[in-house]
Amino acid sequence: MFKTRITEMFGIKYPIMSGPMQWISRAELVSAVSNAGGLGILASLTFPECEELRQEIRKTKSMTDKPFAVNITLLPTTRPVNYEDYFNTAIEEGVNIIETSGRSPEPYMKLLKDAKVTVMHRATRTRDIKTAERVGVDAVTIIGTEAAGHPGMEDVTSLVRIPVATDAVKVPVIAAGGIADARGFVAALALGAEGVLMGTRFLTSKECNVHPKAREWLLQLGEADTILVQRSIKNTERVVRTEFTEKILEMEEKGATLEELLPLISGQRGRNAYITGDISNAKISTGQVVGVIHNILSVKEIIEGIISDAKFIVQRLHNLGIDE
Ligand code: NAD
Repeated sequence: MFKTRITEMFGIKYPIMSGPMQWISRAELVSAVSNAGGLGILASLTFPECEELRQEIRKTKSMTDKPFAVNITLLPTTRPVNYEDYFNTAIEEGVNIIETSGRSPEPYMKLLKDAKVTVMHRATRTRDIKTAERVGVDAVTIIGTEAAGHPGMEDVTSLVRIPVATDAVKVPVIAAGGIADARGFVAALALGAEGVLMGTRFLTSKECNVHPKAREWLLQLGEADTILVQRSIKNTERVVRTEFTEKILEMEEKGATLEELLPLISGQRGRNAYITGDISNAKISTGQVVGVIHNILSVKEIIEGIISDAKFIVQRLHNLGIDE
């Protein structure tokens, strides 16, 4: 039986989570991850109204009887968000694992702890996971710069982030960024993590609801095909390098303001690209690990493949004489 503090805390079979991807991490993907023994995380800001989030939580529950979590991202958005309403909606629907990210969860910790919610907080900086521990979260996720989404401003890789994080906090650490298969999984555990969170690998899963053209396009990308945009607005995002995203970089280099950038960096463009398969006018967020992924697998194949291949990796290390 696979056992870490993370499997114990969340009551899951394997310490593998799916990152909450805007527009992507809905009931279908989240329930598939949980049904396969991992922990699916629903991306709540995909839903502009709390009522829609409520319905999606109910839908997820109808598709799995296993634990799943809801993410509430506290990063800046172009529309005002009443975060308390999102937290309350998840609590009212009986969600007992919530992931926060983007900003300190401190203002919401009393609300969450009074409702007996297990809280994990995902951050890019060591100081932020220390703050999260201090304000009472149960687990933290540290993000290496390889990651998709918002990997922070400090450009430190997972290879360094993970051991620094496990030295810095006592709560269990989950590793995000650069992990897509058993090699990354075992490496993260070797560095001290007690679980992993993967986005890009699940973005290229059968259950992911993106247009097949967009998925096929992702498969032919290499590890150097991503760039960081939005550094000028102190909110970096790792996206696939295209003519469109290079245009964003060029505007940033010329000193474009947030207002000038917003029409290009709007999340709505990404949503349209995933629906139509036309990626030419959107920023598509992926991790560098896209270069490690060469096939579309079901979520079950991804998770079970990681667990079974992990045994061969451990055997390989054994054969090298590591435990002699
Ligand atoms: P959006 O269309 O409202 O904004 C587009 C981008 O501009 C986002 O990256 C946003 O963070 C950034 N932005 C907006 N106002 C800003 C400001 N004042 N200063 C700096 N940056 C600003 O965003 P969206 O794509 O609809 O996403 C909604 C929210 O979810 C955003 O906060 C986004 O960052 C976040 N998000 C979260 C995940 C996740 O991990 N769950 C994934 C993707 C996006």
